Amino acid sequence: MKETIYTIPVNDAYDSDCECPLCLLRKKSEDNEIEYYLGPSLMEPDTRIITNKTGFCPDHMAKLNKKVTNRLGLALVIHTHLLDYDKDITDDLTDAAPAKAGLIKGRSNDYKNTLRSLADRIDARTATCPVCEKMNKTIDRYNEVIMHMFSHDDAFKQKFIKAGHCLPHTASLLRTAAAKLSQNDAADFVNALSESNKAQFSELEKDVEWFTLKFDYRNKDKPWGNSKNAIQRAMRFLSTDTGEFNEG
Ligand SMILES: [Zn+2]
Ligand SMILES: [Zn+2]
Repeated sequence: MKETIYTIPVNDAYDSDCECPLCLLRKKSEDNEIEYYLGPSLMEPDTRIITNKTGFCPDHMAKLNKKVTNRLGLALVIHTHLLDYDKDITDDLTDAAPAKAGLIKGRSNDYKNTLRSLADRIDARTATCPVCEKMNKTIDRYNEVIMHMFSHDDAFKQKFIKAGHCLPHTASLLRTAAAKLSQNDAADFVNALSESNKAQFSELEKDVEWFTLKFDYRNKDKPWGNSKNAIQRAMRFLSTDTGEFNEG
């Protein structure tokens, strides 16, 4: 397969000892995008046209803030984003205030739609994020490459069977399998996915339960086993490893 730009990282992720290879690939893509948006791209007019408009989602604002590199660049983007946002909504917010009941407009209910649509616009702006957009595109591509490798590369298929996947990435794999795999390949693929999911559920259920039982004074001196980080592992399994559930 000629697209080594995707197959090499996919193979590396499935070779590494991790809870979900797609979480690992997602993290790498996210780190690249954050580096990109804090790097020289900040001064490129084309990028600035996008980021002035979009800003970043709450999660990536927080991640950009944690990086101490390029505070000036970050401030410039935030400043022009504020100006753009201000111009977009401030007047509409002022105009959204309804006339008081009994005055000219009476008890018209129209203002409720105005308030709702303005709220929708703010929510949409909050969620818009070029880091998310690029990252999601990359992950979609990785999902497709995984399908191709699963059905054409037996060594990879064996790695896939042994790997585990978090639930959100299980969903993305199922969706891509529906779009890309033949029925026979889909049968093998979903069987492999379901076996590993079953094993992950039962291990996590057991470990989280033992974590709760350790609070019983009768178990105080018994060994923790694998339970010390059971909550974090379960959270990563349930919600994707975003780097927010680290132990310690
Ligand atoms: Zn994952
Ligand atoms: Zn984002």
